[in-house]
Amino acid sequence: MALIVQKYGGTSVGSPDRIKNVARRVASWRAKGHQVVVVVSAMSGETNRLIALAKEMQANPDSRELDVIASTGEQVTIGLLSMALMGIGVKARSYTGGQVRVLTDSAFTKARIVSIDEANIKRDLDKGFVAVVAGFQGVDEQGNITTLGRGGSDTSAVAIAAALKADECQIYTDVDGVYTTDPRIVPEARRLESITFEEMMEMASLGSKVLQIRSVEFAGKYKVKLRVLSSLEELGKEGPGTLITVEEDIMMEQPTISGIAFNRDEAKLTVLGVPDRPGIAYQILGPVAEANIDVDMIIQNVGHDGSTDFSFTVPRSEFAKATAILEQVKGHVGARQVTGDNKIAKVSVVGVGMRSHVGIASKMFRTLAEEGINIQMISTSEIKISVVIDEKYLELAVRVLHKAFDLDQVPA
Ligand code: ADP
Ligand code: ASP
Ligand code: MG
Repeated sequence: MALIVQKYGGTSVGSPDRIKNVARRVASWRAKGHQVVVVVSAMSGETNRLIALAKEMQANPDSRELDVIASTGEQVTIGLLSMALMGIGVKARSYTGGQVRVLTDSAFTKARIVSIDEANIKRDLDKGFVAVVAGFQGVDEQGNITTLGRGGSDTSAVAIAAALKADECQIYTDVDGVYTTDPRIVPEARRLESITFEEMMEMASLGSKVLQIRSVEFAGKYKVKLRVLSSLEELGKEGPGTLITVEEDIMMEQPTISGIAFNRDEAKLTVLGVPDRPGIAYQILGPVAEANIDVDMIIQNVGHDGSTDFSFTVPRSEFAKATAILEQVKGHVGARQVTGDNKIAKVSVVGVGMRSHVGIASKMFRTLAEEGINIQMISTSEIKISVVIDEKYLELAVRVLHKAFDLDQVPA
């Protein structure tokens, strides 16, 4: 007998029929004698609908009230799934985040889990119940409802698996695993048998939203065995999915590149004609940080004639705010001009094999050059290379890089 935590995302619980399918899948694991905790998302589209409703009341919704509203989607699903399970003779009981006591900090809309009280769930499991838990939500010390950021049910599931010391955490979604890149963009993308935590963290943080980044972080830290699988395949015919694991467990020789991630969530700002003197980066980025705006890539050019240009990227949603700040900064530091571009995209190649292979960057740059795609910014880490390009070339860039790195071929 094993203890399994299963998480079903929005599409997997997107209709009454799909919820009944989930119930049958859970029942099949119970029938094999396993204890099962199920973590569910809101039905697909529901969280977006709730947030849009809130915005009809306040253009910039109060974050405490927004969480009160956004968390309700999951509460509907736990009730429905529990009923579906009872309907086929499986004992089940639903839990909101507060009822489990998923304790979080008070950072509404992006709260972090502090602790999980596993006692209630354990008691129910021991009595033969399936515990059906609302993902994405928790409560803070004062009992306020909080949510964990978009895609946060993944993190709920992994955190509960860690707290219960579950044998495996299974993330059921609408694809049958983690692919070399988003299969919606590149049909030739391949499912990976396994991927390291480190690579999955990079992929998630660079835009592959198949798993919320914090869930991967959590799983790595608490050594939770994590697997991504499809909920849409016929019962009994599901494949092995993708195992997220530590590097040493991957026996085969690693391909140089494991995957390609991309996002359209950033915008670029440039301050032109900045006096080239010590402290200038701080004078520009200090006010941006004070306004709580995250800065990602940064480039300062070589100075000439006593001045230089300074570029960086921010979340696209903060573009207007950051531009206004820089207009102020321009006067203070004596810069010539502020320009911005919110039609950019970031494309990244990721792979632990990069540590032992040279020439990855030059191959990436050559491939893009051959398509006439201009690189605006570059950043690298030990296992990834990211470039910023014009958004209109994003899909082309991902496709040609996928081919150039042979990601459509099964590794020998
Ligand atoms: P859920 O609602 O189950 O949480 P998500 O929409 O959050 O599902 O995540 C699944 C989606 O992630 C897939 O439909 C796919 O389009 C997208 N995706 C992006 N990158 C990848 C990748 N590398 N591998 C698999 N899926 C990916
Ligand atoms: N329902 C939430 C969202 O849409 C959480 C999740 O699905 O993981 O972001
Ligand atoms: Mg998701």
